[in-house]
Amino acid sequence: MTMNNQGRPTAIPAPTSAAGDTVTGNRGLRIEEPLIFEQDSPGRCGVDLPALPDVGLRLGPVKPRGSIGLPGLSEPQVVRHYTRLSQKNYAIDAGLYPLGSCTMKHNPRLNEKMARLPGFADVHPLQPESTVQGALALMDELAHWLKALTGMPAVTLAPAAGAHGEMAGMMAIRAALEHRGEGARKRVLVPESAHGTNPATAAAIGYSVDPIPATAEGRVDLEALKAKLGPDVAAIMLTNPNTCGLFERDIIAIAEVVHAAGAFFYCDGANFNAIVGRVMPAELGIDAMHINLHKTFSTPHGGGGPGSGPVVFSAALAPFVPVPYVRKDGDRFVLVEREGEGGTAYGRMKAFHGQMGMFVRALSYMLSHGADGLWQASGDAVLNANYLMARLNDVMTAPFEGPCMHECLFDDRFLKGTGVSTLDIAKALIDEGFHPMTMYFPLVVHGALLIEPTETESKDALDQFVTALRALAERAKTGDAAWFQAAPRFTPRRRLDETAAARKPVLRWAPEPERLEAAE
Ligand SMILES: *Cc1c(COP(=O)(O)O)cnc(C)c1O
Repeated sequence: MTMNNQGRPTAIPAPTSAAGDTVTGNRGLRIEEPLIFEQDSPGRCGVDLPALPDVGLRLGPVKPRGSIGLPGLSEPQVVRHYTRLSQKNYAIDAGLYPLGSCTMKHNPRLNEKMARLPGFADVHPLQPESTVQGALALMDELAHWLKALTGMPAVTLAPAAGAHGEMAGMMAIRAALEHRGEGARKRVLVPESAHGTNPATAAAIGYSVDPIPATAEGRVDLEALKAKLGPDVAAIMLTNPNTCGLFERDIIAIAEVVHAAGAFFYCDGANFNAIVGRVMPAELGIDAMHINLHKTFSTPHGGGGPGSGPVVFSAALAPFVPVPYVRKDGDRFVLVEREGEGGTAYGRMKAFHGQMGMFVRALSYMLSHGADGLWQASGDAVLNANYLMARLNDVMTAPFEGPCMHECLFDDRFLKGTGVSTLDIAKALIDEGFHPMTMYFPLVVHGALLIEPTETESKDALDQFVTALRALAERAKTGDAAWFQAAPRFTPRRRLDETAAARKPVLRWAPEPERLEAAE
């Protein structure tokens, strides 16, 4: 539809245009919203600015080439623009968000209240230590509980996300290997079912990645792993529970053979939500493991807030924990900021100390749940996933025998011969008002659909989701592929060319003449 620069249509669409079009492009109360630049009325302004003082240009010979092109809008236009954009954002506060591996659980409001206390919210990373004793005490307490819940002796709070935590852990492993003169170990073993960040982390810091195949049961093949071990192996990076939603039953044997070969055991702990309060990572022989506060400990993510990926370390790696960290000296807390002060830290992961707001929320979550509450949360997460598995098993196909952990995995065998794909199911699910599950991951399963309901969904919510998904699975089996391929019908945009969007993203708006030139 052609629009003028205020975002209103300039022509009524021809009656032949796609069914469901409205004159305005709006549907019901869902408002079509042009870019803010397309709504520009030059000279319009939401505030009265004082006249500019008469100062000369201070850029020497550099002359401005024209206006900087900020759009002119009134205050109500700006308010409506951003309100409408915010309403296009699907969020955990809007409904079930069953993305597998991402742990999109409810963000308790108590945590938000705590994080907004001025002493935490307004703290500045460059404040003198004596003025932030409360914040340091909170970091120290969070570190204590992370160590208590994992049984591990050391932790860094600095990493800004899970993938950043992987990097922190792998850099500590590299520092430990170099310290004992084994820096020549350059190979990292990564199971085929690993999250993409695992091989990416290993490669990013200079290791070569060697995949380990999975068994028909969806777990690491211990014999294949043994065959791959050698004097050049630095570490294994293993997710537990793994990305097929299964507990690695051989994990202790895996740790033993890895250690016997002189290598370290990095565990991707993003799925800690399934076992927190029940399994001690220290007892599994793990040397380093990141914990996503924004998954297991309920801090907002996915546009709602920054991640936070603390890493816990074994005694063997404890001397190499990066700075800064909090230490208690008598009744004061100090931040150890420099390498060498407290051991052989390899450096730091970021400029400051980590995501303070997330520390407050995560500690609030831990303390409000208590040990019994965390134990129940992981149990309920697993129960919910198994409920979905049990209710969908007869119309969809599960590649591995249950029970599962906190997420349930299906493959696309139930779609065989229907002409309907995993992607089509996901698009049809959007029309039903559900965010799709994780699709085509893990890669070890064909056409994977990985569903993680989390413990915060009620049985009613799960039943609604099951009803929608069962109806879609049954419809697919009737061979109504064209119906699926036309989905989504009720979204602001229909099917996108996702390949073009990924390969040739248009990230910058350009005024009309420039756009025309670029197209030529
Ligand atoms: C989410 C996730 C990660 C990465 O964590 P980010 O915080 O997104 O960087 C790594 N591994 C697994 C299994 C995950 O689910």
